[in-house]
Amino acid sequence: MFDYLIVGAGFAGSVLAERLATQLGMSVLVCDKRPHIGGNAYDHFDDVGILVHKYGPHIFHTSSARIARYLSQFTRWRPYTHRVLASADGKLLPFPINVDTINRLYGLSMTAEEVVLYLAQVAETPQRIATSEDVVVSKIGRDLYEKFFKNYTRKQWGLDASQLDASVAARVPARADFDDRYFTDKFQAMPLYGYTAMFENILDHPRIRLELGVDFRELVHDVPFRQMIFTGPIDEFFDYRYGELPYRSLSFHFETHNTPLFQPAAVVNYPNDHEYTRITEFKYLTGQVHEKTSIVYEYPTDKGDAYYPIPRPENAELYRRYKELADATPDVQFVGRLATYHYYNMDQVIGQALSTFDKIYGSKRPVVHTAAA
Ligand code: FAD
Ligand code: UDP
Repeated sequence: MFDYLIVGAGFAGSVLAERLATQLGMSVLVCDKRPHIGGNAYDHFDDVGILVHKYGPHIFHTSSARIARYLSQFTRWRPYTHRVLASADGKLLPFPINVDTINRLYGLSMTAEEVVLYLAQVAETPQRIATSEDVVVSKIGRDLYEKFFKNYTRKQWGLDASQLDASVAARVPARADFDDRYFTDKFQAMPLYGYTAMFENILDHPRIRLELGVDFRELVHDVPFRQMIFTGPIDEFFDYRYGELPYRSLSFHFETHNTPLFQPAAVVNYPNDHEYTRITEFKYLTGQVHEKTSIVYEYPTDKGDAYYPIPRPENAELYRRYKELADATPDVQFVGRLATYHYYNMDQVIGQALSTFDKIYGSKRPVVHTAAA
């Protein structure tokens, strides 16, 4: 009898398995329908021996000391600051938009103070900031919105920015300074030996058993367990009782080139040209030295694995109905990006898993009575 069956060996499932096994001595069966651990953060060496991310570029960043400390038990780190260029008007410019982006785009040489005034002039004043279009045009105006956000967002989501929550485009705010980092979190680094190696360490415990390449439905009737943690899509768990929750998928196209470098940055975004949104060159992320280089193109699509929950009001409403079902299913806990239908980064999923564990720990911990003095 397993104490827990955990469905999914991504961050949500693996962190919970590790905590339950090491802190509470529980026996845990982790299954994943994919033939590998790591969920969407899985990486592997391709045919020429370059470490690539099978499900698109994953860059670790967090402002939570607790989360950085937690993961540091399982990996050493390679300090890494992520920088991105975006292609606009035939130029490759720093993105998120900063003072350099604006100057180079328009052929100007404004100071940071002048850029603040410039943005105040071009910014629009929507009645309220509800959508991704509102949040961008209210900060940087229509022209920059159209050059950097409008078409990228259409490609990425198959929707107009006016149909998406403000939180989506707010992930990449413009800056009236020269900071060209993609993320501003205190802790930014890549696992030195890769994500999969880190996951191997997280899951390396005698009380954790792994079943890979197995859908949980094939196990539930044969394997006895007390409680379940589910980290896959919540609508699938409930057999789509209220209909399908919309997700966005990606189709990845990998290439290896016989040159040491392909492009001038780890990621180049293509808001206005091509069917793909961005190209990632992995050697920048990993620091690997190799005479060749491997890249990946991301083509957004509706078909395929669920990668992105789509943040907009009607989807939040449908998720709320599934959440009610989840709340009425006390033997199963729903944790992670797809199980809670939130556009979470890796650190947020780890944070969610750690607080789920805190609650379990709180309910299991023996109460110690001390004699009154
Ligand atoms: P997942 O990693 O999706 O794991 C869930 C697992 O459950 C999967 O392996 C799945 O196979 C398994 N599963 C589902 N259903 C079943 C079933 N029926 N039976 C058995 N197993 C099942 N975050 C960052 O912080 N930085 C980044 O740079 C970044 N880049 C990203 C780029 C892309 C293209 C994508 C798609 C995401 C990116 N993320 C990034 C987000 C990150 O991938 C997620 O936050 C994180 O991986 C979510 O972990 P999870 O455990 O919730 O889900
Ligand atoms: N975005 C954009 N242009 C860009 C990059 C991002 O319009 O060049 C918008 C787009 O809507 C995207 C969102 O900002 O989906 C969040 O971007 P991020 O890079 O955080 O997306 P992720 O890495 O999660 O795919």
